[in-house]
Amino acid sequence: MLGQMMDDPLTITSIMEFADRVFRDTEIVSVTADNPRHRYTFGAAFARARRLANVLDGLGLARGDRIATLAWNDYRHFELYYGISGAGYVCHTINPRLFPEQIAYIANHAEDQWIFTDVAFVPLLEKLQDALKTVKGIVVLTSQATMPATTLKNVHCYEALIADQPDRYDWPLLNENSACSLCYTSGTTGHPKGVLYSHRSTVLHCLATSMRDVIGLAAGDTVMPVVPMFHVNAWGVVYSAAAAGARLVFPGPKMGDGETLARLINEEAVDLALGVPTVWLALVNHLRASGGAVPSLKRVVIGGAACPEALLRGLDQFGVYAHIGWGMTEMSPLGTLNTLMPWMEELPDAEKTAYRLKAGRLIYGVQMRIVDASGAELPWDGKHSGQLQVRGPWICKSYYRLDNSDAHLPDGWFDTGDVAAIDPHGYMQITDRTKDVIKSGGEWISSIEVENAAMGHPDVLEAAVIGVPHPKWTERPLLVVVKRPGTEPTKEAILAFLKGKIATWWIPEDCVFVEFIPHTATGKVSKKDLRDQFRDYSYG
Ligand code: AMP
Repeated sequence: MLGQMMDDPLTITSIMEFADRVFRDTEIVSVTADNPRHRYTFGAAFARARRLANVLDGLGLARGDRIATLAWNDYRHFELYYGISGAGYVCHTINPRLFPEQIAYIANHAEDQWIFTDVAFVPLLEKLQDALKTVKGIVVLTSQATMPATTLKNVHCYEALIADQPDRYDWPLLNENSACSLCYTSGTTGHPKGVLYSHRSTVLHCLATSMRDVIGLAAGDTVMPVVPMFHVNAWGVVYSAAAAGARLVFPGPKMGDGETLARLINEEAVDLALGVPTVWLALVNHLRASGGAVPSLKRVVIGGAACPEALLRGLDQFGVYAHIGWGMTEMSPLGTLNTLMPWMEELPDAEKTAYRLKAGRLIYGVQMRIVDASGAELPWDGKHSGQLQVRGPWICKSYYRLDNSDAHLPDGWFDTGDVAAIDPHGYMQITDRTKDVIKSGGEWISSIEVENAAMGHPDVLEAAVIGVPHPKWTERPLLVVVKRPGTEPTKEAILAFLKGKIATWWIPEDCVFVEFIPHTATGKVSKKDLRDQFRDYSYG
């Protein structure tokens, strides 16, 4: 027997229409390249999203076509999120920090039709434009007055385009399972892979992560996503803030600058902010150096990489409570978040901190398990570590346009590539990683690509790259090299050889020479042994 309730679709449009009616006057504040402090309301934002939807419909696109963004966190990017998805197209957020060849690969693979870009990325697109096979035109996210001179073809000014449009638009009724947004992850080997979110998965993630023990948003909160909007929809907060009626503060281009963040937090009375550890480290260092404070900031959500204890304690000193979260691009992204159980609050400091440093408890809607090498499930005893697998309605089933790409295992679980232990109270702790990548400042570095580049040096017999802890970037690559017999290369020469072959920020922090590199029984480099060998390595 079926239930007899209405099956109204769960769509991003429903969040927009709700916020437009209920939280019409709630403010959105942005720092942009052309305005140090732009202010308007949800009502004004959605009116402009409707103008944008009229522009998009005039471009002759088909439903589901991908429209890319290359932009920092600000109000125009917010309008694109809602306008593109609401009109039935797919908002494809591209990470502008990627190597240009990767951006071209991603845009071609996604078959992006148009790119909406910040002024800052116009030079990048000028270099790339001949490599972009499907892009029909570029829209620069600025006003006519600040439109740059450019060699880009079919280029338009965003403000001029939407100014001519009516702000009336009838949002189409969409199937909740239709795609709304796309984000590529380079968190595994090979080419970046596209994760295609649906309206339904996005709304369910929004509802679950808004719960009080998760991000816990309310009208009256002022939320600042420092996590980029090109990185998994700014952890969904662009949607959950609208659904909760929380005031949004977008930090614009200078997101990693402690001084800028502190000023914005204080001037706009931000009480909740979200970002990777490197960002909060910059904030704490700035506050210490300047003798400053951020009295309004009550909570931060830290994720994307392991949070060092010193950072948690550093934030405590400034009265900021850090909640560690864990997730992935493939998980929309949140899977766990650390909020203590009431009884844990009473524990002695060291025990309490040990709980707080874990990646947290599972969020309702996601299931997780840890398994050993044979696939047998391991107990939640806090002692056994195993491969972490998840499933749920906002977990990726398969990658976008990738043959044989079922992301999930035959029994329906998704293997995260992380290794974890889960304690009897359900608190998960990442203990290692099986995927061969390094996360530096919240962004991925492919160790294999760095190794391949290093192996091109004539004096290198074998090269391996591992991530080692770094005080600022959480992790940085270390290049381990076996010299070819009879040669005496210097580390400077090998690192210099990599310049131009890989992105500058991928170049390892250091190069060390060893007699041999450990291998597994199947002949692969044993990264685990290598990581153990260099566990105490510190940058000289
Ligand atoms: P991404 O898809 O770029 O968001 O990266 C997801 C990956 O970042 C995870 O699979 C983990 O390897 C890592 N990660 C995310 N959150 C944490 C955390 N709290 N602690 C350790 N690693 C994390």
